[in-house]
Amino acid sequence: MAIKELDRLTAEKIAAGEVIENPASLVKELVENALDAGAGSVAIAVEEGGIKAVTVIDNGAGIEPGEVALAFRRFATSKLTCLEDLESIASLGFRGEALPSIAAVARVTLTTRRQGAAAGTRIRLEGGEILAQEETGAPEGTAVEVRDLFFNTPGRRKFLRAAPVELSRITELVSNLALARPDVAFKLTSGPKTIFQTTGDGILLHVIGAVYGNSCAAAMLPLSYDDKRRGMFAGGFISPPHLNRASRRQITVVINGRVVRGNAISGAMERGYGTLLPSKRYPTAVLQLQLPPASLDVNVHPAKAEVRFHRPEEVKELVIRAVKACLQRSLDLPPAPRPRGEAGGKDHWTVGPGVQSFLHEWGKPHDPEPAFAAAKESLELRPGPEDKPAVSPGRLIGQFLNSYLVVEKGDSLLLIDQHAAHERLLYNALAEAPPGAKRSVQLTIPLTVELPAAWSVRLEKIMPLLDESGFKMEPFGDNSFIIREVPFSVHGEIKTTELHALLEALALSEPAPGEERRQQIRKTLACHGAIKAQRHLARQEMVSLLHEWENTADAFFCPHGRPAVISFHRDELAKSFLRRGRAN
Ligand code: ADP
Ligand code: MG
Repeated sequence: MAIKELDRLTAEKIAAGEVIENPASLVKELVENALDAGAGSVAIAVEEGGIKAVTVIDNGAGIEPGEVALAFRRFATSKLTCLEDLESIASLGFRGEALPSIAAVARVTLTTRRQGAAAGTRIRLEGGEILAQEETGAPEGTAVEVRDLFFNTPGRRKFLRAAPVELSRITELVSNLALARPDVAFKLTSGPKTIFQTTGDGILLHVIGAVYGNSCAAAMLPLSYDDKRRGMFAGGFISPPHLNRASRRQITVVINGRVVRGNAISGAMERGYGTLLPSKRYPTAVLQLQLPPASLDVNVHPAKAEVRFHRPEEVKELVIRAVKACLQRSLDLPPAPRPRGEAGGKDHWTVGPGVQSFLHEWGKPHDPEPAFAAAKESLELRPGPEDKPAVSPGRLIGQFLNSYLVVEKGDSLLLIDQHAAHERLLYNALAEAPPGAKRSVQLTIPLTVELPAAWSVRLEKIMPLLDESGFKMEPFGDNSFIIREVPFSVHGEIKTTELHALLEALALSEPAPGEERRQQIRKTLACHGAIKAQRHLARQEMVSLLHEWENTADAFFCPHGRPAVISFHRDELAKSFLRRGRAN
């Protein structure tokens, strides 16, 4: 087969795929260019998750008329002229690949005016070809509009996700960039809706408020740890242990001013929390590290934002210590066992104000639940009706580990997982309620919850399904919702923190089609409404649970498919005890 050189446009389309995977990577490149141009404000407007259009407007340095076309040539960059520069580069992009890659796979209009120049320039490209370039009036700075991403590469277009998913990726990305640069004013809009906006006043806590909500910002703990000997510094904010999340998505790691993906770093952070953080739960954090430039390789892959440390252990240790010191200071935990009598009076763990409010809101033992109250009377364990004692109802022996009901049933001993069993009950009740049946209970006091921008975008999409399941919630201001009714499975006693966790689970679950999505929502509602493991239950509560569980369909498994019960037949027991025959 003859080898031939690909024509320029084909080559560019192929190369574009390395840089531009989805609308979020497009936004990343454009915003980084704006920051490199010294912009003090960057506005990002997207339509249909950026698939239809992305516009990024900055007030940075602008581009000379004579250089506008050049900016779209591959390997054209104003940020690097020789290989040595690579070592000391401070700017975010430097390979001169972004603009040509974007132009190769979309319809692009760039309008720009240099600071102080009399006129600006507009250039239009489509599929990598320049269609027109003209002089125009324009504000100082640069605006890039990118429409119809992958219009000419249908193969790539297929890999785009639904608009809400792409939008939440963009929201996460811009949130991270804004958290890394409190000195720049960011504004992200989707169609007519403002998703979030920062002021550029340089105060990180204000950015945290804009991105994750003011109540989150108010609870954050300041971090500050100086390792002078190694010239390393850790700053930023981390959440108190009780404000934890199901994923690491709310951890932002900024190294020398640049957002990096940092699994090693977040791992170290989690180690800093130690046992204060429940397993598989993660903090909200913005961690800013200042490290000697010689101690790391940035730009291992600029588009992927990875870094490599020459001495990873030193960096991890810095992070662990910083987090520990922060928590100790803020939560007033004992630093180390003290010699007796040294610290007057405080011989045990002391509880600081942070912990007190935490206990108040979250950790307080549950009051006996009224959840069963209505059912109680009818569910007294009565002798079964004469006519159908096919299998005798189970007899409750007690509770084991505050998690399992121990039950005698016929010839078997049952261990019932109280959470899984209750989850099954709630799930069936949700699924079996006839259409139009009332599925909700009204909250005595409506709850207002403020959610991170990335979740609320997704929640709004599933609002009709939530409504159908008994969640009556309305948007209330940009990222707040007012909740008036909750599904009966969740009951009226829910606490704000639990509700937060529930909404997070709903918002972050992968959207499934139609009926599957409905089931997914029911499972989440059932799981969050169900009695937790390690909760002491009153005898009456156990009896009611057992009775209802015995009368529900598919009782042996929870809706996620885990077993709700394990049983030991008397023969098995006799065998295990090496008893002969069936003698007791
Ligand atoms: P790189 O950022 O790697 O240099 P790009 O293709 O992203 O490559 O951009 C090419 C050049 O276009 C940049 O080096 C810069 O000179 C110019 N440029 C791009 N975007 C902007 C902007 N928003 N403001 C000013 N100059 C820009
Ligand atoms: Mg760039």
